[in-house]
Amino acid sequence: MAQDWLRGVKDEYDVIVIGSGLAGLTAANRLATCGYAVLLLEHHYNFGGMATWFKRKGGHIFDISLHGFPIGMLKTCRKYWSADIAESIVQLKGIRFDNPQFSFMTTFDRADFTDKLVNHFKVPVETVEAFFKFARGMNFYDDQKTTTRELFERYFPGRPDVWRLLMEPIAYANGSTLDDPAITFGIVFSNFMSKGVYTFQGGTDKLITKMKTTLKANKVDLRHHALVEKVLLEKGRVAGVICNGRTIRAKAVLSNANLKSTIHHLVGDEHFSPEFLREAAAVRLNSSSCQVYMGIRKGESIPYIGDLFFTSTHPAFDSEALNSMDVTSRTYSFYYPDTRPGSDRYAIVCSTNANYEDWSTLSEEDYRREKDRLIKGVVDTLEKYLPGVSAKIDHLEASTPRTFEYYTRHMAGASFGTKFEGLKISQNLSKAIGGLFHAGSVGIIMSGWLGAINYGVIMANEVDKYVRQDASAHVSVQEETTPAMSESRV
Ligand SMILES: Cc1cc2nc3c(=O)[nH]c(=O)nc-3n(C[C@H](O)[C@H](O)[C@H](O)COP(=O)(O)OP(=O)(O)OC[C@H]3O[C@@H](n4cnc5c(N)ncnc54)[C@H](O)[C@@H]3O)c2cc1C
Repeated sequence: MAQDWLRGVKDEYDVIVIGSGLAGLTAANRLATCGYAVLLLEHHYNFGGMATWFKRKGGHIFDISLHGFPIGMLKTCRKYWSADIAESIVQLKGIRFDNPQFSFMTTFDRADFTDKLVNHFKVPVETVEAFFKFARGMNFYDDQKTTTRELFERYFPGRPDVWRLLMEPIAYANGSTLDDPAITFGIVFSNFMSKGVYTFQGGTDKLITKMKTTLKANKVDLRHHALVEKVLLEKGRVAGVICNGRTIRAKAVLSNANLKSTIHHLVGDEHFSPEFLREAAAVRLNSSSCQVYMGIRKGESIPYIGDLFFTSTHPAFDSEALNSMDVTSRTYSFYYPDTRPGSDRYAIVCSTNANYEDWSTLSEEDYRREKDRLIKGVVDTLEKYLPGVSAKIDHLEASTPRTFEYYTRHMAGASFGTKFEGLKISQNLSKAIGGLFHAGSVGIIMSGWLGAINYGVIMANEVDKYVRQDASAHVSVQEETTPAMSESRV
């Protein structure tokens, strides 16, 4: 008989969270600590969404999205999870670039970037300071018309090399382009510039295990292999969900699924007004990704050549080239033994941004061939920097936009949710349908580990306000503990 993954699930909860990405986990935890009965439903066998990992024969373990986040994660994890989780956040000091325009290692913080811009790129120090001040001062409620291209033209006209330094890592971090609102660059860039790039020591497995322990202690009912098929509505308000064919009732539902899937698939267009659907139709999905996972054979080692390495043969920064199947730009993350203290293993993960359509339209044969080509390009490029590395690799595997779509159910395998315009729709979902909320990568600034967690807190607060109308006895999420939009992301 097929296993019943919902065995013991109650008929009704205060809140149901669909999806266990960092936003879903965080929202579930916040709501449970306020005393609500919370059910979290995840279709995959593992929790974490994109913040996940997998193991392979030979003792290999690969992290999917543990490449780097800003220092803000420390405060956010301490405040909304635990000091124990925050303690594992450590700095990555070696961020390396090699491309036709420049080649160096940086700590990727304001002091070192100022030094690079002034001494390497010969930009006047006053311009650099003015740029940093402007970017730091950018606010979610400010002008959203100026694009990143216009911002760069204002401060660094005729300097494609400087544009590349500023933009390429951010494009990798959130899929943004020069034509996106400058606010999406300013917030993310400034978050990194404050103190550099950080990681979670112990790996994603340690983080998610700790989060699960906390959730269970706070009595969240956590279920995997639990696919939500529909959000149920009664009289225009949320009444529950259908999951694995079973109806489970709730006062509110918070969806951590992609915003567009939430609207069009989980709820259904027939429940929204034409104006809302018009605005939702204008929301563009963000780009997707490819990754190549390289496991180093037990007993072998590689020398330290940096933690994050942005390498490209393309002449200048170019968003289209960055997503192209004919890859010229790649980001390598090196996992040395101290990634998981006590381990003696090395792994390398190479990420590239990608267009879903390029991969989704391939025949099975072409798909396999393109995957092989992707892997070969990644290993050949790495050989140039680490001669002999191919002989040390005993596991090689690739993922594509199709893989991300399959595991996360995000439309078009979107890695970073939607473009900027999605944020407003996400925030206003509960105005369209009472009791329906969304939290998860959206609008570029609310994506990445930090953005997703912070948005989970913000939307948990909104759910609390809504449910409290019926259940005034509950302690509420304190408004003043909600992170500001500008603190968010990467
Ligand atoms: C290749 C790659 C590298 C990245 N690197 C970094 C990085 O270095 N630093 C950083 O900060 N960020 C990085 N990110 C981005 C970051 O991982 C994500 O922005 C963040 O983890 C997303 O969290 P989320 O809460 O939006 O949910 P997601 O992680 O997108 O999870 C959503 C969850 O909902 C579940 N779900 C969807 N539909 C249903 C349904 N109907 N029923 C049940 N469950 C459902 C999915 O299975 C999934 O588990 C990277 C992303 C990618 C793809």
